[in-house]
Amino acid sequence: MNCFDIHSHKPSPRTVVSLSATGDESLPPEGTLFSVGIHPWDSATCTDTEHLYRMAALPGCVMIGEAGIDKLRGAPVDIQKELLKTHIQLSEQLQKPLLLHIVKATDEIIALHKELRPEMPWIWHGFRGNAHTAEMLLKRGFYLSIGERFNADAVAAIPDDRLLVETDCSRLTIQDIVRNVAETRHDTPAHLAEITSQNARTLLGKVCL
Ligand SMILES: [Zn+2]
Repeated sequence: MNCFDIHSHKPSPRTVVSLSATGDESLPPEGTLFSVGIHPWDSATCTDTEHLYRMAALPGCVMIGEAGIDKLRGAPVDIQKELLKTHIQLSEQLQKPLLLHIVKATDEIIALHKELRPEMPWIWHGFRGNAHTAEMLLKRGFYLSIGERFNADAVAAIPDDRLLVETDCSRLTIQDIVRNVAETRHDTPAHLAEITSQNARTLLGKVCL
């Protein structure tokens, strides 16, 4: 089963590995696909965006993030929001999709999306919200990436063309996650692997074939 993992912290084939632009992470081997951002958790300690700009421009960088708002950790929300806006601008400027880490800030994200009307797709990673939240985000064109834990009603309601899968920090493999998500959607793992890989191709281009 040929799965594509849109967000992981371990470099491997058919995976986008998430790097942090805080300056203490080295670059992955050539050919590795990565995203780069200043995580909301680092928003209180990392204010220097120099690494972010430099790493984001590299050809292996296929998405900007993780970036976002986490109300349970990191700097005060206003500071996190400013930092997120920097990532949004970069995503638009470099034409690379935005990978979001959001905790307890759905309203803020929807408001920002309405205000800024980005051209690039926004991907909500590790989506665990309910079906109503999923619907609001889907209406605005978001992609929802599903990992180890999720709300079954929401996952069952995501259209085929907006669904992605990820391992993030899980000990499960991407195949395990595909099997779990497929079961929830009354789909076959093979079909789910195919549609989520297709969505990754749509988002990231030929690089992840
Ligand atoms: Zn992560």
